[in-house]
Amino acid sequence: MPIDFAKIQKTFRVPPGTKFRLADCDPGWAGDGDIPERERKDMAEGILAADVGDLARMQELLWASDTWSVLVIFQAMDAAGKDGAIKNVMSGVNPQGVEVTSFKKPSDEELDHTFLWRCMKRVPERGRIGIFNRSYYEEVLVVRVHEALLAAQRIPGVTNRPRTWNDRFDDINAFERHLTRNGTTVVKFFLNVSKKEQRKRFLSRIDESDKHWKFSPSDVAERQHWDDYMAAYEEAISATSTDHAPWYVVPADKKWVSRAVVAAVLAGTIRNLGLEWPKIDDTKRRQIDEARRLLEAE
Ligand code: ATP
Ligand code: MG
Repeated sequence: MPIDFAKIQKTFRVPPGTKFRLADCDPGWAGDGDIPERERKDMAEGILAADVGDLARMQELLWASDTWSVLVIFQAMDAAGKDGAIKNVMSGVNPQGVEVTSFKKPSDEELDHTFLWRCMKRVPERGRIGIFNRSYYEEVLVVRVHEALLAAQRIPGVTNRPRTWNDRFDDINAFERHLTRNGTTVVKFFLNVSKKEQRKRFLSRIDESDKHWKFSPSDVAERQHWDDYMAAYEEAISATSTDHAPWYVVPADKKWVSRAVVAAVLAGTIRNLGLEWPKIDDTKRRQIDEARRLLEAE
């Protein structure tokens, strides 16, 4: 199945330096054209399968060439499907080459450091893919929505005012620039689920007893702050979608859409690194020939 990465990139990437508006992005988007949804779904599943296979091969190349690493950031409201997207999209890759880190409420030790500290420690090594399930972006999202979290950080002179968030955007942009300059490419996904679809998913967690483990009463409480979150996301994404670390806003009301888009963007991003298999020099070639000779002589 041919995948037009440039088209997918153009559709979902937030152009750097523009004011991004969530109102322009439909969480329920499920493909253009007159093709029936059933067929579009089949196509998306074909794209996902092809890209999952491609990602497995590219990860091997990433590992072998040992030059770049890839940091993939997932941000979303609860029940937008971060976990499922990570599980599905990475299903073909060698677990040794991937590390997923989920960032929760910071510990006391983490709160005693700057907000990038705990994330810096989990940035992937050369040759690997690192996935952040939530990230330092929480510092301009949940921390912005709940003022008490900022106060708990006890940073001298830092209060909830525009300057604080702009400073954080600057720090994040500088950090991501530092990463890309030093061989870590950064790609960021916002899984854009609608408030209506979130309600539906929460209700199904409540209705189905095998989903009860996923249910958290605090998720329903967080929903009350939906508009504040959306405003914080809009500002953060506008300020931090850069050429070196772009944001992709992915329609997430249909999981088959979000997974296919994430897989296509990720595969395209790694493909664009132009990685090459390591060259075999004359010494290595002679060692290989000698090894063959010895094995065949046994
Ligand atoms: P799931 O619910 O699918 O298991 P999750 O990512 O929502 O996954 P939870 O344990 O439910 O995981 O939630 C983690 C919580 O930690 C989120 O509410 C998030 O906003 C919060 N969190 C993450 N980073 C920070 C931070 N830097 N400061 C404060 N809260 C944070
Ligand atoms: Mg949660």
